[in-house]
Amino acid sequence: RGMYRYSTAAAHENPITPPVSVQYDKLLIDGKFVDAASGKTFPTLDPRTGEVIAHVAEGDAEDINRAVSAARKAFDEGPWPRMTAYERQKILLRFADLIEKHNDEIAALETWDNGKPYEQSAQIEVPMVARIFRYYAGWTDKIHGLTVPADGPHHVQTLHEPIGVAGQIIPWNFPLLMFAWKIGPALACGNTVVLKTAEQTPLSALLVSKLLYEAGLPDGVLNIVSGFGPTAGATLCSHMDVDKIAFTGSTDTGRIVLELSAKSNLKPVTLELGGKSPFIVCEDADVDQAVELAHSALFFNQGQCCCAGSRTYVHEKVYDEFVAKAKARAQKRTVGDPFKAGIEQGPQIDGEQFEKILKYIRFGQEAGATLETGGDRHGTKGYYIQPTVFSNVKDDMPIAKEEIFGPVQTILKFKDLNEVIQRANNSVYGLAAGVFTHNIDTANTLMRALRVGTVWINCFDIFDATIPFGGYKMSGTGREKGEYSLKNYLQVKAVVTPIKNPAWL
Ligand code: NAD
Repeated sequence: RGMYRYSTAAAHENPITPPVSVQYDKLLIDGKFVDAASGKTFPTLDPRTGEVIAHVAEGDAEDINRAVSAARKAFDEGPWPRMTAYERQKILLRFADLIEKHNDEIAALETWDNGKPYEQSAQIEVPMVARIFRYYAGWTDKIHGLTVPADGPHHVQTLHEPIGVAGQIIPWNFPLLMFAWKIGPALACGNTVVLKTAEQTPLSALLVSKLLYEAGLPDGVLNIVSGFGPTAGATLCSHMDVDKIAFTGSTDTGRIVLELSAKSNLKPVTLELGGKSPFIVCEDADVDQAVELAHSALFFNQGQCCCAGSRTYVHEKVYDEFVAKAKARAQKRTVGDPFKAGIEQGPQIDGEQFEKILKYIRFGQEAGATLETGGDRHGTKGYYIQPTVFSNVKDDMPIAKEEIFGPVQTILKFKDLNEVIQRANNSVYGLAAGVFTHNIDTANTLMRALRVGTVWINCFDIFDATIPFGGYKMSGTGREKGEYSLKNYLQVKAVVTPIKNPAWL
């Protein structure tokens, strides 16, 4: 787009002024922006500098209660679940148009609050958000039950009904995409929603939700509560009037979410949690291509992806060449102010994640892995980290087992296919895997043997609205996107009617 081309060598030392201002900093309850009941606010920070962008209303238990009441009323009495599917579709389509119209403004706010490159926000993520709402708009009038055969003279049909009030909790790594993956299917199925944004990134959801109301959403159908997990988030999970919870975040928090549901009304929970995804480079690989793909599989979004290819397994025949080239590629990665054109990597989200990543880098060195490049902060301000590559990594090192969630590539060596299958599957996680080979037999073997929710073969991070995404094992339960996501937001009602004098059964 070329709007924000600056040539300062060290742009991260003199941050570019974001071309957007914060218009919405309150809670969105029952279609209106309101202060928190307590009057409290919390600061959201610019990850480029650690400086305050805005003070945002801090919702807690009482605000969640207000938001749930609004959503409940909108579901029980309001027009949203009662209007025709076509009416709902038109609202979602108008919303997608408004997102496109405000693309650059939304993208700038997302980058400012999160630190991801503006080009990524403006050219990939915000357009993807519009695409997701068009996709779910398409589903509104294609959701229907079945006629089911019965043993006796009964007419049996199923009705697919909305589940009710959906509580949704999202993380900070893809604030708007997670918002879209969550509310898209919930709204398409006729539910109402209370969504809690991540405390690190509350801004973009407020702006975009305002556009959804402009598109014609009835009051109370979508409520946004900014705030913290143990207060606002936990109240939402325990609430007796919430019919379903969808959560994306860490595995530890996912466990708490499930416990809170179990201790309250046993509301169904879908979880999209952590990962330690293998990226397997086979012996036949074109090393240059494999290096590039493995690099983006790990470093995309500052390494802050639940599905990051964070265990790079490379066949011993190509290992040395791969390591040398992966190191060179990481050294070429452009790190700096995310508003600057051509920047591949911005700052990490906050000081906590920044410290956690540096701690893992120290763990890697202490465990005896070879630090090929990087290993320290980048610059002197904000939360930038040097693109880091470790070789000679062993499976039992913390950097190979635990989620680092940062720009740290760990490269491991393997000898044969059975061995790498066993090692790749030897993880508590099972979110995704990358496979790099042009041998179709190898690809077929790996694709079936890997215990993960997504296998990308000779590609990575392909996230079409149509493709289901979710985890095996401790990476979660349920699928988002695609047709599979709808069943998280629907109840199935069986309706049985006797048939007198049936002509046939
Ligand atoms: P987190 O799981 O604590 O936060 C995710 C969301 O859950 C946020 O909205 C948060 O406010 C909320 N939350 C926190 N405690 C809660 C509680 N008790 N009840 C209800 N909701 C609660 O994640 P984090 O602390 O931001 O990040 C920690 C680690 O999680 C990261 O380092 C990374 O490894 C992982 N993570 C994974 C994803 C993912 O997409 N799977 C996203 C972000 C972070």
